[in-house]
Formats: sequence, structure tokens, C-alpha cells
Amino acid sequence: MFLDEDHEALVAAELTKQTLVDTQARMGMMLDLMPMGLLIHTRQGIIFGNQEAARLLQVSQDQIVGRHFLDFLQTQIDDAAQQMEEAFEGRICENSTEADIRTAEGMVRTIKLIAGALPWDGNPVVQLLLQDITDLKTIQKALHRLTITDELTSAFNRRHAFAVANTFFNSAHRRSHALAVAVLDIDHFKRVNDTYGHAAGDIALKTFSQTVGEFISTPQFTGATFARVGGEEFLLLLPNMDEDAVIAVCERVRCSIEQQPIVTASGVFRTTVSIGISVRRPTDDSFDTMFSNADRALYRAKESGRNRVCVDDESLVSAQRSTVSK
Ligand code: GH3
Ligand code: MG
Ligand code: MG
Repeated sequence: MFLDEDHEALVAAELTKQTLVDTQARMGMMLDLMPMGLLIHTRQGIIFGNQEAARLLQVSQDQIVGRHFLDFLQTQIDDAAQQMEEAFEGRICENSTEADIRTAEGMVRTIKLIAGALPWDGNPVVQLLLQDITDLKTIQKALHRLTITDELTSAFNRRHAFAVANTFFNSAHRRSHALAVAVLDIDHFKRVNDTYGHAAGDIALKTFSQTVGEFISTPQFTGATFARVGGEEFLLLLPNMDEDAVIAVCERVRCSIEQQPIVTASGVFRTTVSIGISVRRPTDDSFDTMFSNADRALYRAKESGRNRVCVDDESLVSAQRSTVSK
């Protein structure tokens, strides 16, 4: 009778132990199946990492133990450290950190870190959830680029240019800085389409953008924004330049366009551009006012013969004849 009870107790204990082992194994499998990286971290280092965490950090699951999560980060180390510290102290951290990890093969992956305190006896322990957001970030960047870019010419689009210009115009600390806008309109562009075809016109627009884009890609034009704001109308925003410098730049742009051959299947030709400039005056109440002033100057450039630069103070800078090829 006594022996039977002992035997039953032993069987029950064995069953309990086996259940625990099974539970632990199942729990491990469940954690490994998680699509997120999971690290259990003490202040000294990692005590557990699931398969996804090992994949993200590019180390085996065994080797991860004993390492410190912050040692894997390339960026946002201070933010991640602060987030972990808050979790160690039992505070709920509302913000997540997005940081880059450089893998063993030199590839950069972006992860989102969510830290939380774990109920644990003695040593404070935190749980770090790592979400791989590399692909999401790449798509986000590509989408953002699409929303600010003109599809045909790859220059910025009108909305982006105006957003940048308004921000610059309204920013208090930049109010003391010079700001100029130039509106560039290709001369007799309708003739280009009529003579060489719409496809050639498209190539002319791309070549125009490329020429101006390359011109302003040098360090002296840091902060300049070039955008297509209409069919064959472009805008050049030039901060931190006085009027003489802006006029000189626009003259050089005008000359580059005049000299640039446009190579198309239906022939090689050149175009010219008329440019209207407006430099911010203390009386300008908005960027729209500046833009209207530049547009008025452009109108004068067209009226007085095209292929020239005009400033909104009546002074004609260049008085060359229009030279559009047919
Ligand atoms: P002006 O010197 O007075 O500016 O004359 P213009 O012929 O350049 O001006 P106008 O406004 O009469 O014509 C602009 C032309 O630009 C008409 C339009 O078909 C053409 N255009 C607008 N967008 C595009 C485009 O995306 N591709 C092509 N190929 N042509 C375009
Ligand atoms: Mg035109
Ligand atoms: Mg036009």
C-alpha cells in the first residue's frame, strides 16, 4: 500500500518534470517561430535570444548569449540605451527607437526596438522586441521620393518646391537670410514639339533638367532647389545669395542651355530659356508674392525678345536675341 503511494508520487513527479521540460521546449519553439526578434537582457548582457534575433544580429543563437545588444547598433545608440534603461527601471517607454545594425557581411538593416520590463526575481531583466523594418524603410523612402519628384524629368515637383520655399520664407531664423527665386521657361517650346515631335520635346525637357541639375549640384549651391512647376516651366530657389550672384548664376544657366545640344531620334537641336528673378524684399509678405514678381519679370523677358534674364526691378540683364533652332 505504502509502496504503491510512493510509486504514484514518483510517476506524478516524473510527469510534472516532463511537462515542464515539454513546456520549456514548446515555449522555445514558440519564441523561435515569432516573426520578431526577442532578446531577454540583464544589465550585464543577453541571456536569451530567439532565432529571429540571431538572424537579425547575424550571430548564432548560442553566441548571442553574453553579448550586449547596444554593441550591435550603428546608430541611435544613446536613444536605445535610454529606452533600455527606462525599461530596467520599470517605466513604460512610449517611444520606440529605430536604429541601424551593420551585419557581418557589411549590410545595414534597420530595426525598430520596443523595450519592456519583465517580472523577474532579483536581477532586473528587460525584454527587447526587434522588428526588422529595412524593407518598410526602403519602400517608404521610394514612396516619399515619388511624392516629391516630377516623373518625366526627375526634378522636384511643384508641390515640393513650394513647400520648401514656404518653409524657407516663413522660418524665423532664416528671415534675415537672402532668398531669391528664378522662374525659367523654355522659349518657343511649342515649336519644338511641332517640329520634332512630342517624344523629342520630352527629351528636351529631360536634357534641360539634367543641365540645370548638374549646374547646381556643386557645393556652392547647397540649399538650392530646382523643380518643374509646369509643362516647360521650372523654378530655381536660391537661398543665401545676393542679387548680383543670383543674376550671374541665372546668366550662366541661360548660356549652358543655349549651348546644350538636344539629341533625339528626329534630329539634334538646341533650345533657349527666358528667366525671371525675384529677390526677397522686406515688403514681400509671402513666397507667393515673390513667385508672382518673378513671373512678371519672366513675362518681361519674353516680351523683350526671349533668351534673357530679367529681374523684377525692371533691369534687363541680358539682351540677346532668341536663338531657338527649328
Ligand atoms: P514661350 O516662348 O512664350 O514660352 O512659348 P512656348 O511655345 O514655350 O509656350 P506655350 O505655352 O505656347 O507652349 C508650351 C508647350 O509646352 C505647349 C505644350 O504642348 C508643351 N508641353 C507642356 N508639357 C509638355 C510635356 O510634358 N512634354 C512635351 N513634349 N511638351 C509639353
Ligand atoms: Mg515656353
Ligand atoms: Mg510656359
